[in-house]
Amino acid sequence: MYRHCLQLFCLSGLSSMPVCEVKRRFVLLYGSQKGQAQSIAEGVAEEAGDHGLVAELSCLDNSEKYNLEKETAPVVFIVSTTGDGEPPDNALGFVKRIKRKTLASDHYKHLCYALLALGDTNYANFCNCGKTIEQRLQELGAKQFYPTGYADDGVGLEVVVDPWLDGLWEAIKEALSKMTSDSTGYLNVDAGASPKETADSSPPDIQLNLLSITDCQNCELKTEAKDAEVAHVTLAASLTHSLPPLSELALNVPLLPPPYLDVSLQEAETTEQVSIRENLHEVPISKAVQMTRGDSVKTALLLELDISACPMMTYQPGDSFDVFCSNRATEVEDMLHRLGLYDKRNHMVHICLLKDTKKRGAQVPSYIPQNISLLYLLTWCLEIRSVPKKAFLRALLEHTADGVQRRRLQELCSKQGAADYNLYVRDPSLSVLELLTAFPSCSPPLSILIEHVPKLQPRPYSAASSCRRHPGKLHFVFNLVELPACSVRPVWRRGLCTGGLFDLINPVLVFPGKTESSSKAALPKIHVSWRPSCSFRPPADLSVPFIMVGPGTGVAPFIGFLQQRYGKQEHPEATFGETWLFFGCRHRDRDYLFREELEGFVSSGTLNHLKLCFSRDGHEEDADGATDSVTRCRYVQHNLLCNSQSITDILLKQNGRLYVCGDAKNMAKDVNDALVEMMKTALGRDQLEAMKTLAALREDKRYLQDIWG
Ligand code: FAD
Ligand code: NAP
Repeated sequence: MYRHCLQLFCLSGLSSMPVCEVKRRFVLLYGSQKGQAQSIAEGVAEEAGDHGLVAELSCLDNSEKYNLEKETAPVVFIVSTTGDGEPPDNALGFVKRIKRKTLASDHYKHLCYALLALGDTNYANFCNCGKTIEQRLQELGAKQFYPTGYADDGVGLEVVVDPWLDGLWEAIKEALSKMTSDSTGYLNVDAGASPKETADSSPPDIQLNLLSITDCQNCELKTEAKDAEVAHVTLAASLTHSLPPLSELALNVPLLPPPYLDVSLQEAETTEQVSIRENLHEVPISKAVQMTRGDSVKTALLLELDISACPMMTYQPGDSFDVFCSNRATEVEDMLHRLGLYDKRNHMVHICLLKDTKKRGAQVPSYIPQNISLLYLLTWCLEIRSVPKKAFLRALLEHTADGVQRRRLQELCSKQGAADYNLYVRDPSLSVLELLTAFPSCSPPLSILIEHVPKLQPRPYSAASSCRRHPGKLHFVFNLVELPACSVRPVWRRGLCTGGLFDLINPVLVFPGKTESSSKAALPKIHVSWRPSCSFRPPADLSVPFIMVGPGTGVAPFIGFLQQRYGKQEHPEATFGETWLFFGCRHRDRDYLFREELEGFVSSGTLNHLKLCFSRDGHEEDADGATDSVTRCRYVQHNLLCNSQSITDILLKQNGRLYVCGDAKNMAKDVNDALVEMMKTALGRDQLEAMKTLAALREDKRYLQDIWG
């Protein structure tokens, strides 16, 4: 049934490899934003030898290190998803390449693959990057040799990752053993054979979600409620107390994640000045302006950074960049006290792997530098505000003395307690510190924290300026995030980065109506790094008409677009396509961001149509014509619908583009729905056809989104 290949040595990259090596070889490719997919892939590479296999590990953007066009060995992909279903930065190029329409439908006919997709069901488009790669591989003729795993960071990646890895080794060996060569000299694997299948069996269910397997496998503890010391009588459920039926149920609790780090503290000098990341710039803030009036619902602030000393930072409109913020000093101090380590805060942290750890592919976190103090670790390396995952709660159980508290932690990480976990942990964004405060008998060792608390992430912001208009300067605008007090958090708190930035600039802030700050205090510096965008750019061809939709701070990149375009007079010979901006905020007089600048763009002809809506003013007005009162236009999408003829003409007849920036959860979805409606009317077609048209526009990079939430 299977023809074995005798032509291995003709194939690219294999000429010097002995046959036995070739038969054990597989290609392992990862795309990773925060390092999780990379770390899993590195673990697989390390373990391959134990299974008699040789892994060729590459990052997807190292395209010179692998060649899928000629690859004959099984290929394993491990990819995460970021933002609103985007590929990680280091997989962008690969995804773009395989999406080329010119590729023939048998382009990857010779390829057999397995894929592990990482995602988070708390965000839109779960595992979208993995799904996109998988769909494209299949469209191009590649064959799957092992069902895809979809791991959810929302409940703990390991729930799917561990069983998926368990089955992977046999699957690779089986795929290797089934390799045959066809007349072209390429190796083939029998179509769709899954690890446990014979060659004649039917293809696997490629959408198999391994969560269903693990639901029944991961039930180590079956805890009877009567065993727990539920002595308190509670009137209402809360983070720390449950009510029947949950308090009386037997629980399915996840397996204890194997500990893997050996952490010790040494009284020694540390070399504290460690850089948090390569290509990081420390840049001065040259201006800080409050853009909203004191009585507005949200406070929007504009920062101007002086980047003149960083010639590498030449940004384009549409780019965003990362701001590195530290954890708040007071929270770090509280955490040190809570861990009983305040007196050792200046000790050096020494981290190595536990000798007998059972954790697969365990590694010391690469984002924790050597020779740092405990204070530095908690300030710059761990996101101590992060929401504890269920696996973390499970690990904390082992270090909780009080029976009632233990039972509640069991409930919160159990299958039966999923609703309570969402209500008291996930939805209010409960932090690790808040959890430890609520469960005082829990005394976790530092190692557990390092194993479970994720890396402190930088926060991205869109550039709200153009280098052309502001040479050596970079502007960005943000809303001060405020999380209200609630049952799990008696005191409201600010977002980590926006709150930290506010504290920094508060003394030097320029208030609305003023041109400079009343304070002579020195302007502070912040750490930033670049993250260029691939496609969220204004059209290079000035004659292409485009539409921008950006309510609230979502207007930021469009200020950069328009600044870049400003100065039509410099190109008297050029034809300029029409520009439209749909902006919305709550009140014209309180939070209309960039008002003067936008009106200036209209006067100069840079912006042809400025469509405004004020969601909480009693009346609205069509801004460019100041004509009729369009009372139904509360939000940007209502204004889009009022102008549907012009918009559909631009998109369907004039080859124009549409950009959307801002809130992903509500606004971007509603704008999309409005576009579907407009397409239905314009095309005289049904919902499905309208959606297909929009999908084609997206594919063509003519409907572009930069959204978050
Ligand atoms: P965190 O401490 O991270 O947030 C705490 C909690 O608040 C989160 O768990 C979340 O549930 C909630 N939260 C987060 N953001 C909001 C919000 N806006 N309103 C209500 N609740 C929230 N933001 C801008 O203001 N301007 C920009 O130009 C901008 N550009 C971005 C570009 C990209 C590519 C991306 C991915 C995001 C962008 N953001 C922008 C969002 C920004 O990166 C931060 O997420 C935001 O400023 C909150 O950061 P924080 O550390 O203050 O809040
Ligand atoms: P916002 O203050 O939340 O809202 C601005 C306006 O949008 C308000 O008038 C609001 O009205 C209205 N609105 C509410 N729901 C809407 C809906 N479903 N459809 C259309 N409009 C709606 O704006 P913001 O705080 O600046 O939020 C923008 C979000 O985008 C933030 O989360 C920010 O972090 C993010 N952001 C992302 C990027 C990026 O990804 N590149 C860039 C900038 C900002 P009401 O309140 O009256 O309902």
